[in-house]
Amino acid sequence: MSDFDETWALQTLAVRAGQVRTAEGEHAEPIFTTSSYVFGSAAEAAARFKGDIPGNIYSRFTNPTVRTFEQRLAALEGGECCVATASGMSAILSTCMGLLKSGDHIVSSNAIFGSTVVLFNKYLTPFGVNISYVPLSDLQAWEEAITPETRMLFLETPSNPLTTIADIRRLAELAHAHDCLLVVDNVFCTPALQQPLKLGADIVIHSATKYIDGQGRCVGGAVVGRQEEVGEGVYGFLRTAGPTMSPFNAWVFLKGLETLSLRMKAHSDNALALARFLEAHANVERVYYPGLASHPQHELAGRQQSGFGGVLSFELKGGKDAAWKLIDQTRLLSITANLGDCKTTITHPATTTHGRLTDEERAEAGIADGLIRISVGLENIEDIIADIERGLN
Ligand SMILES: *Cc1c(COP(=O)(O)O)cnc(C)c1O
Repeated sequence: MSDFDETWALQTLAVRAGQVRTAEGEHAEPIFTTSSYVFGSAAEAAARFKGDIPGNIYSRFTNPTVRTFEQRLAALEGGECCVATASGMSAILSTCMGLLKSGDHIVSSNAIFGSTVVLFNKYLTPFGVNISYVPLSDLQAWEEAITPETRMLFLETPSNPLTTIADIRRLAELAHAHDCLLVVDNVFCTPALQQPLKLGADIVIHSATKYIDGQGRCVGGAVVGRQEEVGEGVYGFLRTAGPTMSPFNAWVFLKGLETLSLRMKAHSDNALALARFLEAHANVERVYYPGLASHPQHELAGRQQSGFGGVLSFELKGGKDAAWKLIDQTRLLSITANLGDCKTTITHPATTTHGRLTDEERAEAGIADGLIRISVGLENIEDIIADIERGLN
């Protein structure tokens, strides 16, 4: 339906893919704020409801602005099909509800987004979906956790907030050897830096709220993969249960995709400069950033990603008191748990994003009391460093 050339590079797809101009000849993509659509006749209405002819019926099912976003993101990830969702969490929920049933088992990395852990443990487990957690980079642990009931392996790479890297290609091979789907939450890299489907993953999850928007305005998400799982399984749940993306949010994300590649490069450049500064500082115990040569998986990250991303963490000598003190002395940085914004954000994972985990779960995920996470924005790097340096000394 949309008109684009698959040989186009990522930057070109990001600007051009998915747009279908109306008879008005508009240059920019329009926002279709309509809940329903009209039919030319009773017979046409009947045929559309039956699925005999394609076309819009109701915006819980399809919407032209949302579809443009979906086709553009699918093109960037190299996927057959994309469905947009109301949030990143509803992308994960819809994937599980659309593809799993009671009795199925998920093997998940233990270093995943806090709300994803709550979704799995508190809301999926009572419906008979069981979850086992393993360390992200321990391939043997993944293999040992797989049972005959396992349907899905789930991970984020780099992980939040410790930036551990998973070997997507090897985990995809493992998943397929056991007839499982590999689901990768690609929020930290975006397709501009990493394309999991091309490494063998089956499904990519996005929180568009982060880098895809890039300016902290809207909440949204997406699932990308094959027609069979995403176009039928996930979409089937979505159109029935309704956590769909609004046309306005789809438009914001669509415009975000156009500059994604430039922004991800600038985020990565700033993050590397900050990581190097922190690593050289006497009051910093340890820096977690895949772009540093000291990162244990620096080489894997370099092979698998085309950039190292905008998020880093570091552990202060002095625990929680030192961490809170540094955060409270910033003037430029935003104290917020959000990430992927042009504005640099600073957060204390142990008491915010990972605060709902039990002490045991937090220790298992390696979240120390002195840990600070920075989502490095697009301000001048000297200003960012000066703001952090005040609380370091
Ligand atoms: C934010 C985030 C989510 C959840 O997305 P929402 O849009 O907040 O629902 C999932 N995974 C990762 C890695 C995230 O950072």
